[in-house]
Amino acid sequence: MKRRDFLKLTGAAALAGCAGAPGKARVVVVGGGFGGATVAKYIRLWDPAIDVVLVERAGVFTSCPMSNLVIAGANSMEDIRQGYDGLQRHGVQVVNDEVIALDAAKKTVTLERGGTIGFERVVVSPGVDFRYGEIQGSEEAMQSGRVLHAWKAGSQTSALRAQLEQMRDGGVFAISVPMTPYRCPPGPYERASVVAEYFKRAKPRAKVLVLDANPDVSSKPGLFKAAWKDLYPGILEYRGNSRAIGVDAATMTLKLEVEDIKADVLNVVPPQRAGDIAVQAGLVPARQQWCDVDWRTMESKAVPGVHVLGDATLAAAAMPKSASMANNHAKIAAAAVVELLNGRKPVPVQILNTCYSFVSRTEAIRVSSVHAWDEKDATLKPVPGSGGVSAARSEAEATYAWHWARTIWADTLG
Ligand SMILES: Cc1cc2nc3c(=O)[nH]c(=O)nc-3n(C[C@H](O)[C@H](O)[C@H](O)COP(=O)(O)OP(=O)(O)OC[C@H]3O[C@@H](n4cnc5c(N)ncnc54)[C@H](O)[C@@H]3O)c2cc1C
Repeated sequence: MKRRDFLKLTGAAALAGCAGAPGKARVVVVGGGFGGATVAKYIRLWDPAIDVVLVERAGVFTSCPMSNLVIAGANSMEDIRQGYDGLQRHGVQVVNDEVIALDAAKKTVTLERGGTIGFERVVVSPGVDFRYGEIQGSEEAMQSGRVLHAWKAGSQTSALRAQLEQMRDGGVFAISVPMTPYRCPPGPYERASVVAEYFKRAKPRAKVLVLDANPDVSSKPGLFKAAWKDLYPGILEYRGNSRAIGVDAATMTLKLEVEDIKADVLNVVPPQRAGDIAVQAGLVPARQQWCDVDWRTMESKAVPGVHVLGDATLAAAAMPKSASMANNHAKIAAAAVVELLNGRKPVPVQILNTCYSFVSRTEAIRVSSVHAWDEKDATLKPVPGSGGVSAARSEAEATYAWHWARTIWADTLG
């Protein structure tokens, strides 16, 4: 056993054995992505008397936002990675491990490396996992490493970049987009755009093929299509109603309902559902994919005492699965947990979404919305007249996009 692993184990064991300081409540957060890291930090900021333990299986935070620019060669992995030391400065105890079981009745989580941690409340923000079964052969294709999703930023981000660099000029990069809802609705179109720009500069005879299960571009369609027409004619082709049903890594073939497509680089984004631990913990109802929550507190409707955030939630009307939303969900949950642990009633709040997408490394577009609690229908609803999309793509939006990214990274982890 490595010394590092031993220290991690003793850390978890120490937490399991210790009931916490007298009178101190403990909150366990599962998953240190945009939702989990933010809720851990804000509970500590808003009530330093609460012990917060964050369990995250990855050693470092890697941001999906901006990862498409890494795939296109405009940025590096170092630009989108950060450690968890900022959270430790807020007094969050960060345990680098995987939660393999959550027992809401016993109020414990079990760690993969052994040991359990007890809690008064638990917050689960595991992101998404994939419904591989809906695309025959996709799991084997991913395991072979020849076909990638790169829909969780990390090793697949750099691997997809390497595949694009190695691809011959004149080759085809095909990206398969699942039916909504999936993580980051504009993400596949942003990726197609910035890869097309890379080809335009470095491999002028190469093509990008967007094979979308949806009938049309599902986010900012007018702005994306205008950018493709102006910037990438003859390079980027978009086809709606093109749902993937199978993939063969040996022949690099994607099977659609109507035809088979061969590509040099195949990027298959599979259909998604709430992360595995949410399913294991009974937070996802049978035959459903996502966790239904009370939007005043982010508490699960299936399992009381468990709060769920981010992509794993069953979205309210017009609510995308975005980092911006996960960060806002986290603040609802942090406020509610602090109120509940102090014997007070949580108050509903308004939240904001902003999603920037690059259409080239220098120009971006934006969509934003505001969502407020509706007492009659007991859900969050978009505020009429709020939000909207950019008037046109611009360099100014690209500058704002980088400011947004640096701000949300600092707000989440700093
Ligand atoms: C290519 C791409 C581009 C994107 N661009 C944008 C953008 O520009 N703007 C935007 O707002 N959003 C964007 N998104 C979406 C954004 O990344 C997600 O919506 C956001 O990450 C959701 O946060 P989360 O906390 O729900 O999940 P995540 O951020 O994925 O965090 C989940 C964490 O939980 C951990 N975990 C899971 N299960 C366990 C377990 N059992 N034990 C321990 N740890 C566990 C995982 O390791 C992970 O770190 C993009 C997504 C992609 C794929």
